[in-house]
Amino acid sequence: MQDVIHWPAQGSEGVTLSTPVQYLKGVGPARAEVFEKLGVRTVADLLEYFPRDWVFAPEAIKIGQMKPEEEATIIGLVESIDFRAYRRPPVFEAIVSDDTGTCRIVWFNGGHLRNQINLGRFILVSGKAAIYKHQLQMTNPKFMVLDERQTEPQKHFSGGVYPASGKLSSRQIKGIILPVLDHLETLVGEFYDESRLKELGLIGRRDALAWIHMPPDQEKLNQAKRRLKYDELFLMQLGLGLRRYHAQHAAKAPPCGMTDEIDSRIRRRFPFLLTDDQNACIAEITEDMGRTTPMNRLLQGDVGSGKTVVALYAALLAVANKTQAAIMAPTEILASQHFLSMERYLKDSQVRRVLITGGMTGKKRDAVLAQIRLGEIDIVVGTVALLQKDIEFRNLGLVVIDEQHKFGVHQRAEMRKDSAPHCLVMTATPIPRTLAMTAFGDLDVSVIKQCPPGRGTVVTRWVDRKDRSKAYDFIRERLRAGKQAYFVCPRITAIEGDCPDGSSRVAGSRETGKDIKAATDTWKELSERVFPEFQVALLHGQMPSLEKQQVMADFRKGRIHALVSTVVIEVGVDVPNATIMVIEGADRFGLAQLHQLRGRIGRGESKSYCLLFADTDNEVAKSRLDVMTRTTDGFVIAEQDLRIRGPGEMFSARQHGLPDMKIANIIDDYELLVMARRHAFQVVLSDPTLARPENRGVRGALISKFGNALGLAGIA
Ligand code: ADP
Ligand code: MG
Repeated sequence: MQDVIHWPAQGSEGVTLSTPVQYLKGVGPARAEVFEKLGVRTVADLLEYFPRDWVFAPEAIKIGQMKPEEEATIIGLVESIDFRAYRRPPVFEAIVSDDTGTCRIVWFNGGHLRNQINLGRFILVSGKAAIYKHQLQMTNPKFMVLDERQTEPQKHFSGGVYPASGKLSSRQIKGIILPVLDHLETLVGEFYDESRLKELGLIGRRDALAWIHMPPDQEKLNQAKRRLKYDELFLMQLGLGLRRYHAQHAAKAPPCGMTDEIDSRIRRRFPFLLTDDQNACIAEITEDMGRTTPMNRLLQGDVGSGKTVVALYAALLAVANKTQAAIMAPTEILASQHFLSMERYLKDSQVRRVLITGGMTGKKRDAVLAQIRLGEIDIVVGTVALLQKDIEFRNLGLVVIDEQHKFGVHQRAEMRKDSAPHCLVMTATPIPRTLAMTAFGDLDVSVIKQCPPGRGTVVTRWVDRKDRSKAYDFIRERLRAGKQAYFVCPRITAIEGDCPDGSSRVAGSRETGKDIKAATDTWKELSERVFPEFQVALLHGQMPSLEKQQVMADFRKGRIHALVSTVVIEVGVDVPNATIMVIEGADRFGLAQLHQLRGRIGRGESKSYCLLFADTDNEVAKSRLDVMTRTTDGFVIAEQDLRIRGPGEMFSARQHGLPDMKIANIIDDYELLVMARRHAFQVVLSDPTLARPENRGVRGALISKFGNALGLAGIA
């Protein structure tokens, strides 16, 4: 048992959580390197190198207590050994005894044991006993030869099973961790006081660490897991809470007050009543903007749910308070769409507004920039890039960022470096509640769930090859009735630099020749063979701009009945008469994508149909299609997406400055997450610099865990 490591009798006092594992006995530079690859650098990391599974070996019993057909672990003296090489298979046999009886142990093909099991040694044996020739016998049990120094040898059969690497086995890792556990008393401090632990129903931190590695029983293991998950979630939420607190207090924003007069003046601009959800979001935004702490709010809602109207309300509130507003979109097309829809609402208004495009150059541009600088323009619309570059505002009160399908935390940060306007981020990507609390946990969130009235339902069906012609018949009928259809063709090639949440694929990525070919093939097939009597047109991203616009205009006017397109076509299409969408190769799309594509239909009052063409045996693809046919709720879909793909794939934690979760899972441990979040936010409010003695342990853990990732250096 050369891999059982004994804690050095001298010098263990010097070991702290930040001691590199290299200095632990039995590690050294070579193993330290292996550990490094496993993400373990310090003793603290080692303690959090949690087992991936656990084994409970029975307590060692006396040989006299053994019963046939039961698992048992015994410790005994090797009284005799025998190797019968002539038997088929060869057999190694030992007779083992203690003060209550003897037992025969048999290993088939055990020739190699001749060098390991010697007469007069103590061995520990674990396996199932049976009666053979009137005597108790164990066949092929697990065993370990003991040396004098080992107390509690059965520890080596039970306990954690660690994620191993080729160069470091689970058992070796265990041999290095176990001795450290004897020093938890000095190494590890408690985070929470007695009453808090009681209230949360958690065990102490030292017990949790001891039991996660070497659980006495399943119940204690469960308690250990719960405690350590809580700590992980709590530290994350505390980090987020502090980041948010300090961001809010670092700079002041102009408070934008609201009066009944302003409110009704703004509402008069909209030719409809706002929905309850829109009103609720506006109430939250208005409250934020009335304060001097900068708003940092995310506005979520499907495409067409009415976010732009809410954002415009906020912009007009800023303007009413004599400040400027900037509205930024990810692409120039979307920026000009925002501008155009704004123009509809602001006709004849005094509000001075401008759209900045890349085509605006020279004197014209200089003049506009000067106006902005002098405060002679109230609302500026443009792309993120344009607005970040060289534009100076006189008094910027509000920044609206339409992220559409992407979500770039860093862009936000940059924009807010030296000014502190209120900030509203719009996204059509439904962010599940779990992610809203974690990856985006330092934002406040407003949600529009219900769409404006007058939207028809969307029925979704999964169509396989044999039902295809029936589907075409159905579509033909609808086209005859004057409706229009989209046919979307999948990506053929994988996309480089894909957005981790998979949602940028619709709007953000470039298509390839292969994608266009697929669309072209579909178009030929439909226009020549399936629907020769209708106008079928093709649209893809690499067509000349004018041609694209012509096709879109014709489709909008109803001159084109069916539109075949690749997925990269901009999504800002709004044709209420298009009530059919066929998605070819639907199994190749992610859930977020499918949902966004489907958002293009169901815009008019009549019922719409989304037909998912797919032939697949892939279980993941099937479960995605299944979700799509069951619900149109973007949030349910996002939750399911997270479930199917796992949070790791949905977003990269590192990208958002969060450490990876080692034991907690934000989906399965949602209830703990909510508890931890509430607790953490209480701590932030009562002790925002974590200066109080009772928060010292948490503070140290936080700094060592997050380092600078959360911008906490200032409080260290
Ligand atoms: P989003 O920005 O979320 O995609 P928009 O704000 O652009 O949505 O609204 C989509 C469409 O719905 C627009 O044509 C808008 O005029 C209309 N709309 C928005 N709010 C309402 C409402 N409360 N009642 C009726 N129509 C609305
Ligand atoms: Mg919009």
